[in-house]
Amino acid sequence: MPRLTHEQWQALATSQTFEGRAFIDGNYLAAESGRTFTTVNPANKQTLTEIADCGEADVNKAVAAARTAFEDGRWAGLAPVRRKTVMLRFAELIREHADELALLETLDVGKPISDSLNVDVAGAAYCVQWFAEAIDKIGGEVAPLAPNLHGTVTREPIGVVAAVVPWNFPLLMASWKFAPALAAGNSLILKPSEKSPLTAIRIAALAQQAGIPDGVFNVLPGAGETGRLLALHMDVDCLAFTGSTAVGKKIMACAAESNLKRVWLELGGKSPNIVLADCPDVAQAARTAAGGIFFNQGEMCSAGSRVLVQRGIYDEFVAELKKAAEGYRPGDPLNPATGMGAIVDEVQYQRVLGYIELGKQEATLLFGGHAVHTDTGYYIAPTAFETSPGARIAHEEIFGPVCAVIPFDTEDEAIAIASDSDYGLAAAVWTRDVSRAHRLARRLRAGTVWINCYDEGGDMNLPFGGYKQSGNGRDKSLHALEKYTELKSTLLKLCP
Ligand code: NAD
Repeated sequence: MPRLTHEQWQALATSQTFEGRAFIDGNYLAAESGRTFTTVNPANKQTLTEIADCGEADVNKAVAAARTAFEDGRWAGLAPVRRKTVMLRFAELIREHADELALLETLDVGKPISDSLNVDVAGAAYCVQWFAEAIDKIGGEVAPLAPNLHGTVTREPIGVVAAVVPWNFPLLMASWKFAPALAAGNSLILKPSEKSPLTAIRIAALAQQAGIPDGVFNVLPGAGETGRLLALHMDVDCLAFTGSTAVGKKIMACAAESNLKRVWLELGGKSPNIVLADCPDVAQAARTAAGGIFFNQGEMCSAGSRVLVQRGIYDEFVAELKKAAEGYRPGDPLNPATGMGAIVDEVQYQRVLGYIELGKQEATLLFGGHAVHTDTGYYIAPTAFETSPGARIAHEEIFGPVCAVIPFDTEDEAIAIASDSDYGLAAAVWTRDVSRAHRLARRLRAGTVWINCYDEGGDMNLPFGGYKQSGNGRDKSLHALEKYTELKSTLLKLCP
């Protein structure tokens, strides 16, 4: 399919209209209170539209609709092959509306249009398709019992699932939740981030058009309070969350205070990317490391934000990293050639600039270290510091294009530095020695370890999630279905 030019995207952006209402029980509705908040394009600071700020009445309405839909079996009661057909149509509709969805994503969060199209929207459609295709292939178990007993182990949908998601890959992170949850037969309430509500609101209509029954797919835009109300709700059976570790802790406390709903947490990271002197190709490792931290403006949970480099290749690596960072010069996100867009909003922009100022005090600036196009929007140059492992910029999740480069001497030292973190989302090792690669991978406490690559894994077959305070449970892969189902044992005593 021919891709649009910069000018064509700009023209489309000018004519784009926005839906800002909640989607409850098959209808777009304003918040009961009438309250709204604005969503702003971070690339030019212009207001896009007003969004419904859902409160308690809206949460209750959506939960009741989801509960009714679940109990009457309009979706949960369908044969898996029927759910598959509807979800395959949903995936197709996402693809048919790829340009529109990509444009909404880019305008809402400032990410390059090429990434919105090729990563976010394409990835979301693939995720929906993948779980649709999986759902009629999975059976239960027959337990090995005594001859007079027949026992089955089956998985059943859990009921009403709330998915509370972040702004960095709004549609993609949402799809990692709603696709397995819907495939398993649950009813769902999606709460997008207040910084990025547009694609979630739009795809609700596509879900309906595909044939997902009313009440099964609801979208409640709002701030953290809307998420908190869902986390506290007595009739929500499961809350699947992607976001910060701090909010993840609050959600767990809400579940404990209310109905002990199942809580699944995909949280933050400060992932170490370890480049050993025997890595296969220093320039390649540096190019990949640049992508690992500068792609998506560094707004990635799995960002390789700590790059550990063995001293023998340190100078060469840093020179190559600087060269590779040139490919991430910030520019207009609507230009398909742009490698790095705008930071999502002013709050995040100031936070990242604050860490850059801190870095200038506690570490040595290697390149970048400043805002750009300040008269237009929220843009920050790709930045790297050489730092000691103890610095705050080497410990705290910045969630922006800021890389902490840490030199080391020995393998043991690299593991000690890598492990000195509350997080355990991802890690990478670069070496041409396969035994060393496996040895180090085993010692790294992270949900994903990449060897001689970074952030490979667009494939749905690999589970994704964290050790330690990076969370629990896994998105993607068949394991994700475990989060949205209960395990049931059924025992029948056979007549003699
Ligand atoms: P956040 O925690 O501030 O917000 C995430 C969501 O939680 C938003 O929808 C927000 O409105 C909601 N929320 C805020 N307060 C709440 C409360 N008290 N109760 C319930 N919901 C509440 O995170 P963010 O700034 O949107 O996203 C960035 C974070 O997400 C980073 O830490 C990043 O590492 C993490 N993340 C993790 C993964 C992963 O798969 N592990 C993927 C993407 C992002």
